[in-house]
Amino acid sequence: MGSGVAVVTGASSGIGAATARRLAAEGFEVVAAARRMDRLEDLATEIGCTPIAVDVTDQASVDALALATASCRVLVNNAGGAFGLDRIAVANDDDWQRMYDVNVLGTLRVTRALLPALVASGDGVIVNVTSTAGHGVYEGGGGYTAAKFGEHALTETLRLELCGEPVRVAEIAPGMVKTDEFSLVRFAGDEGRAESVYAGVPGVLVADDIADCIAWTVTRPWNVNIDLMVVRPRAQAAQHKVHRES
Ligand code: NDP
Repeated sequence: MGSGVAVVTGASSGIGAATARRLAAEGFEVVAAARRMDRLEDLATEIGCTPIAVDVTDQASVDALALATASCRVLVNNAGGAFGLDRIAVANDDDWQRMYDVNVLGTLRVTRALLPALVASGDGVIVNVTSTAGHGVYEGGGGYTAAKFGEHALTETLRLELCGEPVRVAEIAPGMVKTDEFSLVRFAGDEGRAESVYAGVPGVLVADDIADCIAWTVTRPWNVNIDLMVVRPRAQAAQHKVHRES
């Protein structure tokens, strides 16, 4: 069972919403943060969390989150995503900048703002949701993998810098997870293209699988730091090695 305040970013859909539900069920007081307040309010009605509208790419918005969150024991930096699948020869600068901003700087801004509260809690836990894209590259994924490698580096650096402080730093790196919006966002609403990512993959992971990993990570005893958890569906042996039926 958990206790104290758990802030989950990107809680309006997918992995973040599943994590908010799971952490609330574990006994945490959940603060659910994202840009779409209507979705967060629905979640609040369902699980009794505190909804806060936040854009992690906007420092003033993150400052307001910190002001509204006097105490914080767990921070799940989950807000993020991919934009496009262009090869480097035709890469779109705007997509690359947006991916760096939300995945790397977003994690930096929220972590920096909530770190005093996490330290003050006496047993803080930070979980950064990166990706297997932060550990291996693939064609067309240059902008997303660069951002997720960046988020991985941030996580590793933070753990070194906090050594001796009462804060654990964990990284969850999921492989293929079929969520409602991740691929739709990546392909700018192209449903056919988004659906094809998961086509024929037996047992593709769902958001609850990752929420389960996060809940386990943050409910270990105070001295147990889960540095890195790489989680893929059985059908995905590596980034390029995906078994598909039919
Ligand atoms: P979703 O697209 O479903 O969720 C992304 C969440 O991030 C949404 O709640 C969105 O809410 C929020 N978000 C996006 N931009 C911002 C912003 N600027 N400020 C605040 N919140 C923001 O994707 P998933 O649940 O699938 O992905 C969650 C995380 O897991 C991401 O970091 C992703 O990179 C990572 N991941 C996903 C994998 C997958 O296969 N699905 C695999 C590996 C990693 P809103 O629009 O309301 O702000």
